[in-house]
Amino acid sequence: MRAHLICSGTELLLGQPVNTNATYLGRELAKLGIDLYTIVTVGDNLARLSEAIRQGGKGADLVLVSGGLGPTEDDITRDALAKALDIPLVHHEGARQVVGRFFQSRGKEIPEVNSRQFVAPPGARILDNPFGTAPGIYYEHRETTYVLLPGPPRELIPMFENELLPLLKEQAGGMVTLSRVLKVAGIGEPAAEEKIKDLLHSANPTVAPTVKRGEVHLRITAKAPGRQAALALIEPVEREIRQRLGEYLFGRDAETLEEVVAKLLRRQGLTVAVAESCTGGLLAHRLTNIPGSSGYFQLGTVVYHNRWKEELLGVPGEVLQKYGAVSRETAEAMARGIREKAGTSIGIGITGIAGPGGGTADKPVGLVYLGLDWQGQVSVWREQWVGSRQDIKWSSTQWALVKLFQHLNGSGEKDDGQSDR
Ligand code: ATP
Ligand code: MG
Repeated sequence: MRAHLICSGTELLLGQPVNTNATYLGRELAKLGIDLYTIVTVGDNLARLSEAIRQGGKGADLVLVSGGLGPTEDDITRDALAKALDIPLVHHEGARQVVGRFFQSRGKEIPEVNSRQFVAPPGARILDNPFGTAPGIYYEHRETTYVLLPGPPRELIPMFENELLPLLKEQAGGMVTLSRVLKVAGIGEPAAEEKIKDLLHSANPTVAPTVKRGEVHLRITAKAPGRQAALALIEPVEREIRQRLGEYLFGRDAETLEEVVAKLLRRQGLTVAVAESCTGGLLAHRLTNIPGSSGYFQLGTVVYHNRWKEELLGVPGEVLQKYGAVSRETAEAMARGIREKAGTSIGIGITGIAGPGGGTADKPVGLVYLGLDWQGQVSVWREQWVGSRQDIKWSSTQWALVKLFQHLNGSGEKDDGQSDR
């Protein structure tokens, strides 16, 4: 089924309110396996709205219009539909009852203006609205169904769920669209795509990568008659992706990297302490964003000044002097120092240059070292990040979480094996 959605309301064109009806209806139609081809926003103008409806009706099975069903002069959607299809509007007893019940339950007479809401095209079906005055309209004309829904989300959503959904399900023949998102980190998008190139051309399910900060999300989407059938299409593709990207694949759907790391730490009974310089506590923040983090997180320090790297973490003064605060040796000593100080299973040290100032030819902005002491065995990695100060801080913590995840997952390479000298 092919659908078009038209959102009416001059206020939407002005950016207020946010068009939440479009996102809601987009999501719901996708679940039904109905292909939404376009979403168009039109102001409260009879000529333009009726033209949008006329255009939408060309070759479409379903045209949805949200808004403009109220009783006032600027509520023109009924008129626009009539004009677009060149049909009359007639008194509809069902519509009058919806309006009547609204006022009756408040002990009031129906105001004269609301009689504008009594009309519908001949033979239309009325969709009930227990939360407002505007009756919804469901009208089949030639090959196309036209549905008019009220603008306020608190009216539109229940009308969609209770009145329209059963009708659409019937029409869509029980087709559902189901998506699963697989999340990978620690590998760039080109490299991830390269590994699954052949899968990106499949039609059902489709596989579509999107790049998120420090992650690549692979959305597998299947369309099938029923949930089970859709899952049966998704699962072999998911297995295939897992096989090819397994060591980078950390989570699924709504899971975050922090959550997965937290779960693995708890499950393995491991504890963490972190010593951060350039990330200023962001890693500790992300590790403690998870409820129950006291089960694995013990100590976080922000050791900016060298004095505290020495005093708190026991980084030898000679190391700081010889190699500098941003060095492989310092990251290693920070990771070891914080783990020993806290008596945890894991210690993490991060030191780098977040910029925008402070870089040199030798040690440019974005240079970061990460040390990870895993029960006494220390690995160190070096990375060169780009972006703003905030980007570099965030990327560094993402990287630390990825390394931690890979160790917990048993897929972590130990050390980058590089030497700076
Ligand atoms: P009413 O009887 O309230 O006039 P209506 O069906 O005529 O209902 P509109 O006048 O178009 O609907 O919109 C009423 C209010 O509903 C808007 O002021 C806005 O707050 C909200 N609204 C309308 N369209 C949308 C939309 N697409 N997304 C979110 N909110 C919307
Ligand atoms: Mg209105």
